[in-house]
Amino acid sequence: MRTEELNRIKKERKLDLVVVMGPQNIRALTGIELDRGALTEKVLYTDFRYIPAVHRIAPGLKTADIKRFRPRGKRIGCEYSMPHDTFLKLRKRANGATLVDISDDLKAVRMVKTPEEIEKLRAAELLTCKIWRDASAKFKAGMTEREMAAEIKKMMVVRGDGEAFETIVCVGRNAAECHHVPDDTVWNGKDPVLVDMGVKLNGYCSDLTRNLVPEPSRPSRLYRRIYNIVLKANLAAIAAVRPGMTGRALDRVARNVIAKEGFGKCFGHSLGHGVGLDVHEEPSVSKKGDTVLKPGMLLTIEPGIYLEGNLGVRIEDLVLVTETGCEVLSPAPKDILP
Ligand code: ZN
Ligand code: ZN
Repeated sequence: MRTEELNRIKKERKLDLVVVMGPQNIRALTGIELDRGALTEKVLYTDFRYIPAVHRIAPGLKTADIKRFRPRGKRIGCEYSMPHDTFLKLRKRANGATLVDISDDLKAVRMVKTPEEIEKLRAAELLTCKIWRDASAKFKAGMTEREMAAEIKKMMVVRGDGEAFETIVCVGRNAAECHHVPDDTVWNGKDPVLVDMGVKLNGYCSDLTRNLVPEPSRPSRLYRRIYNIVLKANLAAIAAVRPGMTGRALDRVARNVIAKEGFGKCFGHSLGHGVGLDVHEEPSVSKKGDTVLKPGMLLTIEPGIYLEGNLGVRIEDLVLVTETGCEVLSPAPKDILP
């Protein structure tokens, strides 16, 4: 439970009350999964049917029926990111109070994971790597991208809580589009296949991109060259992670490796993002990423090079920022060129 963080936000922002209503934010602060609730620094108001479960999961948390929720105070902190109708209801109940946005404060809390969250994220990423190994072993010439994605999805449903996001499978030149949707393209068993995937486990997401390059078929010289540059950028960024640096500085490390090889224009997305209950969280590891990295943050490191109409390579790992650098949580092999 991290409800003490709400007291800190209340003090820092000079508020009379803090109200958190986003289900993912409530879950991140209390560990409790519910679709309707209002968490203040003292009480979780929710549907009375959830209350016994709340007491089981978080025995220290005070609860009350949501029907009795009356926010009081002149300055009330809440999430501007909530649905508009919920916001209007809150405003009505708050009786003319000033509503102050605390979305960024909550994002900042969620960026740094608790030890329990880190274990859940570690387990989710490990399971994704195992599913990648097992599913890719079943890929055969003649399968379509859709069939390969379905193979992965099935394993995620059976072994975890399903997909954290829609699995991306790109055969051959389809990998040149970085958000290609799996279609009826048939795999010839020789072309490289790019897969971006992540299972959800105990509510937490994972994220991994790997490229399958079948043993007997030597990929083209160009593919090998691009693959090696992307791998070099991925490894350079992993080696550079330090608490105290900004996401922007880390992004630059990978971008410089790719630019030096002449492919700067072919790396159009950011280097990475935070991962947690949501697959895309803060901090942003991009040209605009001004958040300072801290131990306990989880980031993806996912440089890519895309040559339009020709080929694409992305290599994505999930890393945990530590006191001295980072720990890679994605054991799936990436040094794979035959
Ligand atoms: Zn990904
Ligand atoms: Zn990602």
